[in-house]
Amino acid sequence: MVKAIRVYELGGPEVLKWEDVEIGEPNEGEIYVKNQAIGVNFIDIYFRKGVYKAATMPFTPGMEAVGVVTAVGPGITGRKVGDVVAYAGTPMGSYSEEQILPANKVVPVPPSIDPTVGASIMLKGMTAHFLVRRCFKVEPGHIVLVHAAAGGVGSLLCQWANALGATVIGTVSTNEKAVQAKEDGCHHVIIYKEEDFVARVNEITSGNGVHVVYDSVGKDTFQGSLACLRARGFMVNFGQSSGIPDPVPLPSLGAKSLFLTRPSLMQYTATRDELLEAAGEVFANVASGVLRVRVNHKYPLSQAAQAHADLESRKTSGCVVLIPDC
Ligand code: NDP
Repeated sequence: MVKAIRVYELGGPEVLKWEDVEIGEPNEGEIYVKNQAIGVNFIDIYFRKGVYKAATMPFTPGMEAVGVVTAVGPGITGRKVGDVVAYAGTPMGSYSEEQILPANKVVPVPPSIDPTVGASIMLKGMTAHFLVRRCFKVEPGHIVLVHAAAGGVGSLLCQWANALGATVIGTVSTNEKAVQAKEDGCHHVIIYKEEDFVARVNEITSGNGVHVVYDSVGKDTFQGSLACLRARGFMVNFGQSSGIPDPVPLPSLGAKSLFLTRPSLMQYTATRDELLEAAGEVFANVASGVLRVRVNHKYPLSQAAQAHADLESRKTSGCVVLIPDC
């Protein structure tokens, strides 16, 4: 038996229960991992609330962690007991002291990477990677708008876009978050709870608009984001922290010949090669100092409900991790 968080019914943070759970033994192609640090992501909240549907009920949430391999199943080569590995995505279940994972879903963690950092950059860092390097390739001269610029993904996204030579405009809700966004490479920061971000972007770009918007806020910002784009601009809606955006009539994109995509990390790391390339670029950028990973909030694993409550109520900035055994 190990301690883990379980969800029996959909709802608020209180549905996250701290329990003894039977994990079993690793089967063919699987490894047994003792988690050192677990990333908390907004997607965990979508599953807890039922915005996304979990495959089973009850379920253990969590899609990002770093841990030590403590056993390997039959047929495993290339992974051994004692390896430090990281993973992001499916199968869900990282809010647990220990878990079983398919060996082909994990990547080795360089010794220079602290476990709390590793557990913050697998899902969030690889998301920043696919957004700026593959979905819309950011280049010098581009003007980029990033909503929730001080969030877990947002912080990494702004730093990466800046490093690629873009002019970065970030939106945040508070002055404290504005300070962080500036430090993370935003050339302009808009406090969107106080200012009309469309008018400010218009002013900053002399009426020309931005080349790309990375919008993870969704409902509250989506229409404004479209309005911020220049002709042939690229709208990337990759999340819905404020709710699912209203439907877009296709012809409305025609006025500026806009591109619209709703990407997911899973499709950008679907093959082993894609996964290794994405993780490799993220680890390299952390090692070289291009990316500073802000692990601003650490909670004991048993306090996952508090972590969810804080993330959901916009109290957090940077990355949130859960630590087993503290
Ligand atoms: P964040 O740390 O960015 O937290 C969410 C932030 O969104 C808040 O801090 C807040 O920033 C902002 N926000 C705006 N409106 C609301 C609202 N009504 N309720 C709550 N938050 C709001 O979370 P993550 O870094 O974990 O994830 C960021 C987004 O990226 C999420 O939408 C997530 O689903 C998405 N994502 C998508 C992936 C994909 O593959 N498509 C992969 C990974 C993440 P502020 O206070 O400054 O407004």
